[in-house]
Amino acid sequence: MAYSIHILHMFPDLLNLYGDKGNIECLRKRLEWRGIEATVTGCTYDDRVMDFSKTDIVFLGGGSDREQKIVCSELLKYRDRLKDYVENGGVLVAVCGGYQLLGKYYALPDEKIEGLNILDIYTEHGSPRLIGNIVLKNDSISQNIVGFENHGGRTYIGDHTPLGKVVKGFGNTGESGAEGVLYKNVVATYLHGPLLPKNPQLCDLILEKALKQKYPDFTALEPLDDAMENRANTYMQDIILKN
Ligand code: GLN
Repeated sequence: MAYSIHILHMFPDLLNLYGDKGNIECLRKRLEWRGIEATVTGCTYDDRVMDFSKTDIVFLGGGSDREQKIVCSELLKYRDRLKDYVENGGVLVAVCGGYQLLGKYYALPDEKIEGLNILDIYTEHGSPRLIGNIVLKNDSISQNIVGFENHGGRTYIGDHTPLGKVVKGFGNTGESGAEGVLYKNVVATYLHGPLLPKNPQLCDLILEKALKQKYPDFTALEPLDDAMENRANTYMQDIILKN
């Protein structure tokens, strides 16, 4: 059977801090290496066409507070469609500002940005910013997740399942020991920039979710030669855990 996956990159013009776009390239490439067709549509602020019905993976990156505000007021118009997409098992990957937007609100010292209320979480701005490299443990993959975080917001996730336990770094609040959220087929995280190239198991977890959602008979991805990716992952872990 010929499989294909369509990725919708939301607001690549506004939400692309530290090269979050690298995650799209990684998703695409790991599909193509397995002979699975991958198409990507970027939906910029001016396009305003968000058709989740033809989408298998929605990607929402991170941005500054200013960009986040612009995006959020626009996204609220599509809130019900995105909520239905998520509740029906659609795959959504959200990073940092995009992660915060999925919650009830993001409270800054002088204003409150209304969120999409797709996840039962909220974010409050705090000081200092939580900046640095981070290592997480997610129990369903054997490889620790490595990344970089930079956020003023502290995200309180209530009863949601985190993406991982913080081995080193700050995570959702700097204190809870939890990072990100996994909800249905949503993967939300503070880990910025091209996260997936150095975390191939996390990338494949997302791809498998999308393929199983679209093709109920899909079983598992073929393994790839990840020698290079695994080296990048362990190299980063060594540096982060030593410091
Ligand atoms: N504006 C948010 C914060 O600082 C998210 C920033 C980001 O995406 N890096 O908490």
